[in-house]
Amino acid sequence: MSSTRRSVALLGATGSIGTQTLEVLRRELDSFELVAIAGGQRLEELASIAKEFDVLTIGVVSDEDRAMLATMVGPRVEIVVGAAGLSELSRCADVIVNAVVGFAGLPVTLSALEAGKRLALANKESLIAAAPLVAKVRSTPGAMILPIDSEHCAIHQCLEGSSNDPGHPDVRRVLLTASGGPFRGWSKERLRGATKADALNHPTWSMGPKITIDSSTLMNKGLEVLEASALFGIETDRVEVVVHPQSIVHSMVEYVDGAVLAQLSMPDMRLPIAYCIGSPVRLDHAWGRIDFTQALSLSFESPDRDAFPALDLAYAAARRGGAAPAWLSAANEIAVEAFLNDQIPWSRIVSLVSDVMDEYDDDPLNSLDDLFANDTTARRLAHGMVTP
Ligand code: NDP
Ligand code: MG
Repeated sequence: MSSTRRSVALLGATGSIGTQTLEVLRRELDSFELVAIAGGQRLEELASIAKEFDVLTIGVVSDEDRAMLATMVGPRVEIVVGAAGLSELSRCADVIVNAVVGFAGLPVTLSALEAGKRLALANKESLIAAAPLVAKVRSTPGAMILPIDSEHCAIHQCLEGSSNDPGHPDVRRVLLTASGGPFRGWSKERLRGATKADALNHPTWSMGPKITIDSSTLMNKGLEVLEASALFGIETDRVEVVVHPQSIVHSMVEYVDGAVLAQLSMPDMRLPIAYCIGSPVRLDHAWGRIDFTQALSLSFESPDRDAFPALDLAYAAARRGGAAPAWLSAANEIAVEAFLNDQIPWSRIVSLVSDVMDEYDDDPLNSLDDLFANDTTARRLAHGMVTP
């Protein structure tokens, strides 16, 4: 085992991003060492990852899970529990991959940055909800966010030509591409009959259930507008959504002189994952390579904001600032969970989020306590609307 290997903690190791991160790591064992993992319900998968990569520290959600996992991995492995456990693991490696889904990923984002780590961030919900708090801890010496989300990873690369002055004044706009999801082109009327099977059938990406549903409502793109603004310090008025059904152009940056820079590949999350882990070095294995000898067409169109009101809800939350993005994301988590549990129809997901946002009174977000109080209120309201 070489001591020059970079250590990696992978939190959310059992999910879609987690599994693809492991695929990248399997090819890069000379350069990287997986030292800690965490997950939720899939304990057997956690045990098997620990065995394969000889990981000696694992995070689980509850004491019950700890006891169960201990019987699978034996006494050599240390098992930490809950949000405190996630925080601990987020300080223990050179690179911290946050592949947890939802607000549960918050301790990873905050602790990794507080500890001055390189954060490879897939978990957009934590950044969106806690943007003002994240902005403070990002200035810790050594702290760095590398976005795994494919659009943001593209923008990050396209901004390498920017002056990097605060707010990127030489950038006219960021063009955030969207596949349009499974319901692209559907009328409002047809959308009323959308089923769970329809919504889970994403045309270009295979992802975890929450983000797949978010992609069907375009809430994922709305969240990504907020994510881009928080990551790059570019106000949301300069972040525009462009539907690009092939998911080959992962996003673009237009400079004030009219030049547009883009990053392209076939849709494959292992490319942004490898970029974030390897940066500033590009790892020498091509994921999602484009075969330009085959016919390739790239098309672009405007999103249907009337049929997909999630986009405007996100822009409105950005304009309100404070805890509004945290409310949006929390209400959306509850609505998506209710849809996946067959408690509400697809067409109610975004209208429920909108109803929760109608209750929001401007509240600045100055502390973690503020954030938790707002998150709890938004979730309570949303739950009340699922089961009135
Ligand atoms: P998955 O549902 O596939 O995976 C989520 C992971 O989080 C699982 O490992 C799950 O564990 C774990 N998890 C859930 N709750 C907890 C908790 N309380 N503590 C620790 N671990 C927990 O989601 P994805 O991989 O699709 O998405 C992960 C994040 O990446 C999301 O924020 C998503 O928006 C973002 N993202 C995903 C993309 C994709 O292609 N999938 C693309 C861009 C962004 P378990 O399964 O064991 O319960
Ligand atoms: Mg994305």
